[in-house]
Amino acid sequence: MQLHLSTWPEIETYLATSKAVLIPIGSTEQHGPTGLLGTDALCPEIISRRAGDEAGFLVGPTFNVGQAQHHMSFPGTITLKPSTMIAAMKDWAESLQRHGFERIYWLNGHGGNIATITAAFAEIYNGITFSGAGNKPPLRCHLRNWWDLPGVNDLCRQLFPVGEGSHATPSEISVTWFGYPDTARPGGSLTPRIAPTGPILDADDYRRRFPDGRIGSDPAQASIEAGEKIVSLAVRGVIQEFRQFAA
Ligand SMILES: [Zn+2]
Repeated sequence: MQLHLSTWPEIETYLATSKAVLIPIGSTEQHGPTGLLGTDALCPEIISRRAGDEAGFLVGPTFNVGQAQHHMSFPGTITLKPSTMIAAMKDWAESLQRHGFERIYWLNGHGGNIATITAAFAEIYNGITFSGAGNKPPLRCHLRNWWDLPGVNDLCRQLFPVGEGSHATPSEISVTWFGYPDTARPGGSLTPRIAPTGPILDADDYRRRFPDGRIGSDPAQASIEAGEKIVSLAVRGVIQEFRQFAA
């Protein structure tokens, strides 16, 4: 069940049985020469929608622009300032809370978002406390990175023992190809095969160090089949964790 494909009476009915909603959250940023700009938003979205359909819970619209400042030297990347993202997440959460939601599970697809999401949670809870609701916030948020779901990291390393890397990884690109097979560009090779590694500094420095955008990865190994394996394992993890969180 997806919020943006539902009517308000359907949401009202849902709220009579559950106060929990899942929001996929990611980023719109370059993912190397073969990866989609939406990769970090699409991965949690693909996993969430499938989990929501299988288990019958509500999935909200994807918060699809995040902390991508260091990718800004590549065309198409869009970024939010941390303060903007915190304010927007708080507005999303307070809107949902106004309707009676008490649990928001944020499934994240971008490592660079983690610090800001955590700060947004603090801002949300702070707002609740100072609004007079006291020290026991009726709204609770939970953050999970999709690759940290039980067994998922291990599966990714098993599928891609060499060249998983840390940005534009074959795993995340496989997930997007599974979700959107028309965008798959299987085969081919990249030069160098495994991208360089190094520190992430400012946007222009990033492009000098990592000219095609990848870090340590060989996404030419990506495949729809690998994506399907990763998604089915992640879906199981989300369903189990969301149910516990919602209870
Ligand atoms: Zn990514």
